[in-house]
Amino acid sequence: MSATQTAPKPRGRQFFANPGPTNIPDSVLLACAHQTVDFNDSNFIEVYDACVAGLKRVLKTEQTVFLYTGSGHAAWEASLVNLLSTGDTVLILESGHFSISWGKMAQDLGIEVQSVAADWRRGVDMAAVRAALAADAARTIKAVCVVHNETATGMMIPVPEVRAALDATGHPALLLADTISSLGSLDFRMDEWGVDAAVGGSQKGLMLPTGMSFTGVSAKALEAHKSSKLPKHYFHWTNMLQRPLKSFLGTVPVSFFYGLQESLRLIEQEEGLENVFARHSRLARAVRAAVQHWSGNNGPQLFCLNPGRYSDSVTAVLMPEGLNADALRQVALKRFNLSLGGGLGPLGGKVFRIGHLGDLNEPMILGTLATVELAMQVAGVPHTPGGIAAAIASLAAA
Ligand code: PLP
Repeated sequence: MSATQTAPKPRGRQFFANPGPTNIPDSVLLACAHQTVDFNDSNFIEVYDACVAGLKRVLKTEQTVFLYTGSGHAAWEASLVNLLSTGDTVLILESGHFSISWGKMAQDLGIEVQSVAADWRRGVDMAAVRAALAADAARTIKAVCVVHNETATGMMIPVPEVRAALDATGHPALLLADTISSLGSLDFRMDEWGVDAAVGGSQKGLMLPTGMSFTGVSAKALEAHKSSKLPKHYFHWTNMLQRPLKSFLGTVPVSFFYGLQESLRLIEQEEGLENVFARHSRLARAVRAAVQHWSGNNGPQLFCLNPGRYSDSVTAVLMPEGLNADALRQVALKRFNLSLGGGLGPLGGKVFRIGHLGDLNEPMILGTLATVELAMQVAGVPHTPGGIAAAIASLAAA
C-alpha cells in the first residue's frame, strides 16, 4: 500500500457483538421500510394494537403500556417524571454504570437519591436492600429502581428478590425495573413479579432500530401518577390517555410498528419466547466457557463473580492488570471488523463486553469468539489458547 492510499475497506458484514443496538433480522429491516401511512388509518391502528398486545405478552403484563419516540433514556425519564414529585426519594440498587446513570437522571430531575452500594462484580446484597427499606420508618422512599440486566457489568439482578424485600418489610414504595437489555432475551414477568414500571427499549432483544421505548405501568403506578408533581409534557401519561392511541403526544413512528409486528412474529410464532430464552442461555454459556478458558495463563476473566447472576445477554470481560481493553477492541474492529462493547464509567479501558442478544446463532457466536481470540494473539494479550474448543464443547453438550 502506498503512503497516499488509505486502509482498504473490509469485506463481508461487520460482526456486531455489541450489547445493543443489536443485529436486526433482514425481515424486520424490510418490514420497517414500509411506505408512510396515516397513523389514524384503521389499517395502521390494527397493526398498532396488535403490537401493543404483543409487547404486553413479552412484558408478561395485562396492565398499561405507554410508548415514546426516543431511546431507553426517554422511558427512564418517563418512569420518573410520571411517578414522583420534587424532594421524593428513590432507592437505587447499584449494579454498574446504568444503575448509576438512572440515579443521576433522578437527581437532575430534583429527586433525592439514596443508593444501596454494591461490589460491581457481585451485585447488590439483598440483605442490604431489606435493611435500607426497613430503616425507612418515615416511608420517604417512594420508588426502588433496579436494572434487571446491568449491561455494563454483565449481571442479572433477580427482580423477584427485590419484590420480596419490599414485601418482607411491608414497604409501599413502587418497584421500577429497567428491562432494556433483558426484555426478549431473559425471562421477565412484570405482573407476577409485582413490577410497577417496566422500562424497555426497541434496540436490543426486540431486534429493532434504536429510537422507540416504552414503559409497562401497573394500576398502582397509575394511581401514584395522579399525585406526581414533577414537570412533564411529552411524557405525560394523563395527556397520552386522552390521545386516540393512548400513547405518543406527537407523530407516531409508524415504521417501528411494522418492524415490531415482524419481530414479535419471529419471537412468538417462529421461535417461541421460551425458546428465545433457551437460545440466549445456550449462547451465553458458550461465551462464558471460552472466557473461563482464556483466563488461564493470567488471561482476561469474567467480570461477574456471581454465577447465580451471570447475564445471558452480555458478558463483560476484565482485562489482565495493566492492559487496555480499548486497544484490544481497536485491533478487533480495525483489523477484523468485529465490533465489541467497551467498558463504561469507571470500567472504561478495563473491560470489553461481548453482546450476545437478539438475532444471533451458534456460528455468529463462534465467529465472534474466534476473532476475540485472534485479536488477543495479535495484540499480545496473555491467555490460554483454545477458548473456541471450550465454547464448542459447551454448545455441543447443550
Ligand atoms: N439501561 C440499560 C440497562 C442499558 O443497557 C441502556 C443502554 O444500553 C440504557 C438503559 C440506556 O438506553 P438508551 O441508550 O437506549 O438510551
